[in-house]
Amino acid sequence: MKHITEAARQVPVIAETEVLVVGSGPGGLAAALASAREGVDTMLVERFGCFGGNITAVGVEGIAWYRKEGTVDTEGIGIEFEQRSKSMGATSPEPQSNSEAINADMFKHVADVMVQEAGIHPLLHSVVIDTIVEDDQIRGVILHNKSGRQAILAKRVIDGSGDADLAVFAGAPTRKTPKEEMLPVTVMFSCSGVHKKRFLEYVKENPSTYKDWGKNWDIQKGGKEDDMFSPYLEKPFDRAREEGVIPSGLKSIGGTWSAISDSGEATYLNMIHMTEYDGSDVHDLTKAEMEGRFQALQAIKAMNRFLPGFEEAKLRTYGMTLGVRDTRKIVGRYDLTESDVRNQGRFEDSIGIFPEFIDGYNVLVLPTTGRYFQIPYGVLVPQKIGNLLVAGRSIAGDKISHASVRNMMCCAVTGQGAGVAAAVSVKDGVSVGEVNIKHVQSALQKQGARIY
Ligand SMILES: Cc1cc2nc3c(=O)[nH]c(=O)nc-3n(C[C@H](O)[C@H](O)[C@H](O)COP(=O)(O)OP(=O)(O)OC[C@H]3O[C@@H](n4cnc5c(N)ncnc54)[C@H](O)[C@@H]3O)c2cc1C
Repeated sequence: MKHITEAARQVPVIAETEVLVVGSGPGGLAAALASAREGVDTMLVERFGCFGGNITAVGVEGIAWYRKEGTVDTEGIGIEFEQRSKSMGATSPEPQSNSEAINADMFKHVADVMVQEAGIHPLLHSVVIDTIVEDDQIRGVILHNKSGRQAILAKRVIDGSGDADLAVFAGAPTRKTPKEEMLPVTVMFSCSGVHKKRFLEYVKENPSTYKDWGKNWDIQKGGKEDDMFSPYLEKPFDRAREEGVIPSGLKSIGGTWSAISDSGEATYLNMIHMTEYDGSDVHDLTKAEMEGRFQALQAIKAMNRFLPGFEEAKLRTYGMTLGVRDTRKIVGRYDLTESDVRNQGRFEDSIGIFPEFIDGYNVLVLPTTGRYFQIPYGVLVPQKIGNLLVAGRSIAGDKISHASVRNMMCCAVTGQGAGVAAAVSVKDGVSVGEVNIKHVQSALQKQGARIY
């Protein structure tokens, strides 16, 4: 490939902070809140115009759809996201669980309020494009926004980009699932003009269960999930394919519905699952955005014809950006394993717990049994760089562990762990790798997190 050399340039330093968090999804947002609540100067930088990551930018609303009778759930900032949203009128009951579906648009405001209350210094519309590394420490980051190129200096940095962008910029080792095995990408969409009563009657008469998952692809389930209700739709798309209403080869359409408002809006229609796209490759991102928009319209065409209640439905919105589930993960001080998740892993350096819930790579396990695993601090700690932590879906682990920890509630667990650890390391004057885990655990417990 042809290359050019960029000219060296002077960049204004717009801020200096103790803890800098980049990316504001459930991981980064929780990290910034946790750090600021420890009384440490905290800045949160986000490339889009709103906080919330996939919740607001993609429209992912099911923060705890896994929560069934018998689930032993995590505690801490993720639960606060759900409850605070509820108290601000930003949720509706999630159809398959004992949980609330978060209204993606309203969460933009909920996040603003939480950021302001915690005293975080916010910076939106700013994409971090590089790190300034000296002696294996990130001294600061370079960002780009409408004001030009700027720098922020920081004592500790938390990578909440979802894609381990900062780890890569700083030269910390990362790994990626081979593209043909990566979790699918999705253009999320919502519809207006849904006849709610007619649709819910159809669902009652044609109930779907988790057994129906994967009729068009192979999913391993334990069996205990099989007969439980799932808001899953495949039949209308099968008919549309059979009858030539949509192309017969379009197998990537089929999936779940979520909240339906009384005024006929169906949000979080998670129905397009396109495989073999790498969300850290800009050409794949471009192709998937365009193909996904086309497929969402095909899905609506199929629903108009074959899904009672959706006869008059129209596209209301696409997610602001493509939904990406799976890109780079750091190589951590410890890499979480499938066995840790499936066998109730226990760790002395636990920073939180998460139920035995796996959703991805053709495996579905729902936490119906009360089993849970602990998340060790080591999965947030990258190699090589001394003042960087990672929060959210790019923490260290294998494929099946990723299918668990990528869930938003768990991203909030790792975020809260990273935020508290960064703050404690500033206060104690030690690196994030050397931080006293007992101090971190006691601060986390004071913040309401459950670590054992
Ligand atoms: C279609 C889809 C459906 C899903 N369904 C569910 C579900 O029902 N329940 C569930 O729990 N999970 C679900 N997930 C998974 C979950 O949404 C993600 O794994 C989770 O949001 C990851 O959180 P995060 O904080 O790591 O990253 P993200 O939520 O991706 O947030 C990362 C943030 O960082 C910002 N950013 C990235 N790079 C930069 C940069 N260089 N500079 C500045 N800012 C940057 C981004 O704009 C974004 O706001 C779904 C995912 C997808 C894609």
